[in-house]
Amino acid sequence: MRPLDVGVIGGGTAGSAAAIFLARAGHRVTLYERVAKPTAVGAGITIQPTGLHVLCRLGLYPYVVGRGARIDRLFCESAARRTIFDLSYATVGDDLFGLGLHRGVLFEALLAAVARESITVKTGIEIVDLARAPGAGRSSWFVDKHGERHGPHELVVVADGARSQLRDDTGTSKSVTPYPWGALWFVGKDSREHAGAEAHELRQVVDGNQRFLGMLPTGRGPGHMPGPDLVSLFWSIRCDRVDEWRARGLTAWKDELAALVPESVPVLDQIESADQVLFARYHDVVMHRWSTRNVVYLGDAAHATSPQLGQGCNLALWDAMVLADVLAEEDKDLSVALDRYSRTRAEHLAFYQFSTRMLTPFFQGDEAWLGSLRDLTMPLMVKFPITNRIMTLAMLGVIDGFGGRMLQLRLPRKEPSAEVAP
Ligand SMILES: Cc1cc2nc3c(=O)[nH]c(=O)nc-3n(C[C@H](O)[C@H](O)[C@H](O)COP(=O)(O)OP(=O)(O)OC[C@H]3O[C@@H](n4cnc5c(N)ncnc54)[C@H](O)[C@@H]3O)c2cc1C
Repeated sequence: MRPLDVGVIGGGTAGSAAAIFLARAGHRVTLYERVAKPTAVGAGITIQPTGLHVLCRLGLYPYVVGRGARIDRLFCESAARRTIFDLSYATVGDDLFGLGLHRGVLFEALLAAVARESITVKTGIEIVDLARAPGAGRSSWFVDKHGERHGPHELVVVADGARSQLRDDTGTSKSVTPYPWGALWFVGKDSREHAGAEAHELRQVVDGNQRFLGMLPTGRGPGHMPGPDLVSLFWSIRCDRVDEWRARGLTAWKDELAALVPESVPVLDQIESADQVLFARYHDVVMHRWSTRNVVYLGDAAHATSPQLGQGCNLALWDAMVLADVLAEEDKDLSVALDRYSRTRAEHLAFYQFSTRMLTPFFQGDEAWLGSLRDLTMPLMVKFPITNRIMTLAMLGVIDGFGGRMLQLRLPRKEPSAEVAP
């Protein structure tokens, strides 16, 4: 594709990655971010092998892998310490692993890469509308919340997250459903006693589908400080019970978690105020295609899910990579290229959206019988090599639809040994 004037809305995972890929392909890119001074904040996320593949292509693999925590298995057990599932990356490939990462590290790495490219970054600008205007040809003007116009841009990349304000501009059908359940999260120091043998696993303890605690080691936080290793603690909560949780007091909550998962005590001991515990809610976003004539929707804006399968950032990174590849391959018409983007992403996204939507109520939901059904069936499923393999491949992020196709990954054979700059 000839060099285009591209406007990217949202400087999160999808938007930053897309801006970097497109700038490297020779397009003129302007990145709009509503936060005036973006900083590296957030809880732990799991970067799956699919996400690591994209970070490799972006040249960011050594930095993130050097700072994150290697995750070799996803281990879930019941309150009675019965294994619900135990999925190991090594089952499907010796060199495969997930990466527990402080979200700020990913952000820091992407931001540094954006700064290295000739990308115009406009922060503190909230885009609320797109408009076609006389004199702009087939391009779109961006309208910010003060009514000021920016651009025009030939290609519009909308990556403004799950609560996108620009999704309504599409002529395509869509649905946006808030999940009734969300999560409380806290990032603390991962003490040696706590880390121990569990240092390389994402640990989940469930009691029915209403009590769910997760602990994800994430290595070091953002910045160049040597810093302690960190762990993110997640606790499932119904969105309409957050006030009740606050009123109940921190001590009662900490006691409840300590009784359920005694290994969480060294992390809980670091929480001194409810203000250190943050609340996140999720949305299920379904769009039937992710592009119109010159607008493409990436990341959570296009297909937010609950984080049950830990795929959101990975899908966002994959979106950005595919968009750049499709534009590189299509040499004539932008709308043809974007149409091809939608078709290329359809199977992969359909699988992960459907699976996440199906799975979430078994872990966070109001129908208690689903928790009991999970406790009966999942231990059996992991025992059979075929279902164990499917579940592990799903965790990796590589299942490209319901037809049995897999995404192909290219990952380094060795983990980086030395510290590198972002
Ligand atoms: C509790 C929790 C745990 C999670 N765990 C995982 C995990 O383990 N693994 C994983 O892969 N994913 C996980 N996710 C999901 C992951 O965080 C998201 O899928 C991912 O951040 C989506 O990236 P994005 O770039 O699409 O959106 P965002 O990261 O939300 O970025 C959107 C950006 O757009 C900016 N913006 C918004 N509106 C405007 C506007 N109008 N104009 C300009 N800029 C705007 C925002 O400020 C932001 O910078 C988790 C999510 C939650 C809530």
